[in-house]
Amino acid sequence: MSGKHNSLNLIEESVKFILVGTTHPGNIGAAARAMKNMGIKQLGLVSPKEFPHEQAFYRAKAAVDVLEEAVVHENLKEAVADSIFVVGTSARNRKVPWPIVSPKEAAEEIVSLSQKGEGKIAVIFGREDRGLTNEELRLCNLHVHIPSSQEYPSLNLSQAIQILAYEIRLSGLSTEGKLEKQEWDVPLANNAEIERLIEHFDQVMQEVDFYEVDNPRQLLTRVSRFFRRSKLDHMEANIFRGVFAAIQKQLKK
Ligand code: SAH
Repeated sequence: MSGKHNSLNLIEESVKFILVGTTHPGNIGAAARAMKNMGIKQLGLVSPKEFPHEQAFYRAKAAVDVLEEAVVHENLKEAVADSIFVVGTSARNRKVPWPIVSPKEAAEEIVSLSQKGEGKIAVIFGREDRGLTNEELRLCNLHVHIPSSQEYPSLNLSQAIQILAYEIRLSGLSTEGKLEKQEWDVPLANNAEIERLIEHFDQVMQEVDFYEVDNPRQLLTRVSRFFRRSKLDHMEANIFRGVFAAIQKQLKK
């Protein structure tokens, strides 16, 4: 394939933007245009309120192809199951903070990971009125905040998308032909594998009465944060799963 190590091609192949619970179809169309202008074409929609819709197609202008190929998902977990890296965007701080970076830093990480060509990289955007839930942000490896004014921090959805797409393009352009293919012996675990690992750890914690099931407080959020920021590879995830299974086997004896 020509242009195999071309940053912009690798970005187009691996980066997808996912819009969660979008209310206004016009925003979905504007998002498609903002993405395609910057060379990002994979769009995922989680439970959009109205889609397909003529407003979306009208606002997309010459990015109608992005809408036509958009994939609609029932929930975010399913939408990011195949992703080796998931970036969440948020206009405000959350109770248990995740590693938070600027759009530029996120873009550098995304472009560098896209060189691996190992799986999808997802960037997630929330609802116009309430953003992303804590449960949805828990699925992310990294959170991005656009450093907007404290007086009015929340941008229009498609404008936030434009900023992320632009930074990813800038980073791609500046590394064109320069990025070395990163070497690692085992592929990174994808989001679904990490989620299964966290569920398995939760089972073990319950079986050894580590916490009160009726009152988990922020325990699972913290456990998720640990596994999601560690960039576990496939084999590391399997080692943990194996250890958990061995513990469960001993407990049953
Ligand atoms: N009131 C909501 C804001 C939603 S804005 C809230 O408090 O979360 C709709 C979406 O646009 C957000 O979910 C996010 O994906 C993106 N967005 C808007 N402003 C942003 C900012 N300053 N930084 C990062 N993402 C932002």
